[in-house]
Amino acid sequence: MTAYVINPPVETMVPVEGGGQFPVRRIYCVGRNYADHAREMGADPDREAPFFFSKPRDAVATRPEVAYPPATQDLHHEVELVLALGAGGSDLSPERAKMLIYGAAVGVDLTRRDLQAEAKKTGRPWDASKGFDQSAPIGLIRPGQSPESGEISLSVNGETRQSGDLNQMIWSSAEVVSHLSTLFRLEPGDLIYTGTPAGVGPVVSGDRVEAIVSNLPPLRFTLI
Ligand code: MN
Repeated sequence: MTAYVINPPVETMVPVEGGGQFPVRRIYCVGRNYADHAREMGADPDREAPFFFSKPRDAVATRPEVAYPPATQDLHHEVELVLALGAGGSDLSPERAKMLIYGAAVGVDLTRRDLQAEAKKTGRPWDASKGFDQSAPIGLIRPGQSPESGEISLSVNGETRQSGDLNQMIWSSAEVVSHLSTLFRLEPGDLIYTGTPAGVGPVVSGDRVEAIVSNLPPLRFTLI
């Protein structure tokens, strides 16, 4: 028996549609993967390629209530298609990269926009703006290939805030996995949040959020 000197961290898992649990290893995220969102954030999508950042694995939130985080006055929603990897690899072509995908889910990349703006201004890391507790709500994972077109939208208290189509992604799912595999060796259990369309905006405690991506199981949660 392993002699842990403290209790080991609890496993992070995401429920799979039809039963079972997907164990999470890492969470990667893509920035500026939809041209209209890049523009609303003041970037030029024709000149700046998408890029990656990450969240800690235990940022995953699968309960119907998500705690409004401390230290922000401007918590933003970003609806995203999430890829769940069932195999690993590095330096993969898009064709090979696609074969790593175990399934897909609807996610929200919660962002402390005020802290992110400060980090951008001062050239500091994004961890505090992106990687806080419960910053990665995610719905049920549906096994199979990820959808390549179809609605991606988010509503707050029944009012539509974000509405786009997956075919607006600058990098497709296969291209995202391919690019990422040139930077990191990917492994089973990795989640990839693939970026958000335009319309990001603030949420407050008490808000009911509903996120839709194609025909994947919808993600619904309330901020408390
Ligand atoms: Mn995002």
